[in-house]
Amino acid sequence: MRAAVLEEHGEPLDIQDVDTPDPEPTGAVIEMEACGICRSDWHGWQGDWDWLGIQPQEGQILGHEPAGTVVAVGDEVETLQEGQQVTVPFNLGDGTCKQCRTGHGNTCENIRPLGFVESVPGAFAEQLHVPAADHNAVVLPDGVSSVDMAGLGCRFMTSFHALAHRADVGGGDWVAVHGCGGVGLSAVHIANALGGNVIAVDLQDEKLDKATELGASATVNASDVENPANEVKAIADGGAAVSMDALGIETTCRNSVLSLGTRGQHVQVGLSTQDERGMVSLPTDAMVMGEIEFIGSLGMAPTNYDEIFRMVADGTLDPSAVVSETVPLDDVSEKLAAMDDFETMGIPVIDSF
Ligand SMILES: [Zn+2]
Ligand SMILES: [Zn+2]
Repeated sequence: MRAAVLEEHGEPLDIQDVDTPDPEPTGAVIEMEACGICRSDWHGWQGDWDWLGIQPQEGQILGHEPAGTVVAVGDEVETLQEGQQVTVPFNLGDGTCKQCRTGHGNTCENIRPLGFVESVPGAFAEQLHVPAADHNAVVLPDGVSSVDMAGLGCRFMTSFHALAHRADVGGGDWVAVHGCGGVGLSAVHIANALGGNVIAVDLQDEKLDKATELGASATVNASDVENPANEVKAIADGGAAVSMDALGIETTCRNSVLSLGTRGQHVQVGLSTQDERGMVSLPTDAMVMGEIEFIGSLGMAPTNYDEIFRMVADGTLDPSAVVSETVPLDDVSEKLAAMDDFETMGIPVIDSF
């Protein structure tokens, strides 16, 4: 089968013919129909995240926002069936540890990020193997398009978990979103659907226009103002109730914390770059004085998807609203390179492999 393989960090992925996967006893094989191209792929392609122990090595198939149809299941798979249309959260769990058994599979004790480590080749390929398939494969509702649902493997569900489960967005709360890439625009749409008044912050007017389209009540172009956090505070009657760093660089992280009001919640979704290597200095005194919370949020457990699906079914959420374009597998390196200068919009999705 065809697959896009990492040969050297920062160099175009190599489209190769590789062996098709056979299912492990508890695994399944998915015929890929769609896969989002995410900034996390860009980080892996760049060779980031060695400080997290998940730096992809030569020979790795990247890709972690899959949607497709089950074409084979292992002998010990109990519920998943051939022919079912599924997505797969990137935060693969073993399905058996305490975290997985208590509904927190996104923080599995043996977590493996899809497409980042050798034991779980990613989804930039014609077929994808899903380990512990009864646990990790999420059956999609009838009649949805795989392209529209690709973001449910990573960015869309990451934002949903961050805002609906980790932070507590209530009706009328001011919610600031710092960084309007795929995860940030998903967050704008979701925070709006949860009843928040959204303030979108980015450097590009085009992305802020898209944020407005997705329900933002106000926008701040951080390149036009001296202090973006103060701008957010001025709009939000003294500060946001919830603020998300949807990028992961030092500036957006700190701006997000500084844009909160008293007892505000900062939720960190973006993982950092080689500049920070996971370490960012924060205004701790101000956080004490304002009783500010700093919350980490990672993906979403596969057991939580029904909440999103109910909101999709009644039209409150529309994951397709963040999908910007479809491209063939051969164009994946071009899209990754465009992320160097933040030139992609929303979620680009591969729809032919
Ligand atoms: Zn587990
Ligand atoms: Zn991702």
